[in-house]
Amino acid sequence: MAVPRPLTVGLSTGPEKPYPLQMEGKVISGFGRGSRDLGIPTANLPVDYDSAPWLADIKSGVYFGWAALNLPPSHPNQPATTSPSSTTTAASGFSVYPMVMSIGRNDFYNNTVPSVEVHLLHHFEEDFYGVEMRLLITGFIREMRDYAGVDELIEDIKVDCDVALRSLDREAWALRETGKGTLDGSWLLRETAELE
Ligand code: ADP
Ligand code: MG
Repeated sequence: MAVPRPLTVGLSTGPEKPYPLQMEGKVISGFGRGSRDLGIPTANLPVDYDSAPWLADIKSGVYFGWAALNLPPSHPNQPATTSPSSTTTAASGFSVYPMVMSIGRNDFYNNTVPSVEVHLLHHFEEDFYGVEMRLLITGFIREMRDYAGVDELIEDIKVDCDVALRSLDREAWALRETGKGTLDGSWLLRETAELE
């Protein structure tokens, strides 16, 4: 049975410290554990403590926020079209999407590198392995749980997606750059420096 939980997380005044947290990298292959077969593909990012030192001691769990992708011109989802409403393509070539993500750490071995997996709340016609992805993590949704079966897991993730969408659909959580909110998303949409 799914545990009832609030439909939004966080205050109406916006993300609270230490959020929003940032990280970025190129999408890599995961374990191919079949998350796509569950209807929940997750774009994996390598962990880089230099650019995201906060990852070293953040707890495992489900988080949410905004993702930006720099899709190549050959990708069918680039340039972002009119639907769904939340994408914005900046001069830098990055488009933003709401996301839920898991940060998974085997807490038994406390110095293992966590895994970072991001499910973007958008339909993509094709994969985007190798594409530059930036994350603005606005808050924590829940801890990891054990499930009796895969249906319960999927049900819980659907609720996470709902919670993320509703939570991000508030003025102080929506991005200024999309014209729908006041949250500063300039880091997500900035131009990539020449030498990066
Ligand atoms: P892997 O184990 O390689 O991460 P997944 O089954 O989790 O495989 O699929 C992830 C891949 O699916 C991503 O790297 C990305 O290229 C693609 N993908 C397509 N749609 C989405 C989406 N909405 N969110 C995340 N990844 C997606
Ligand atoms: Mg994955």
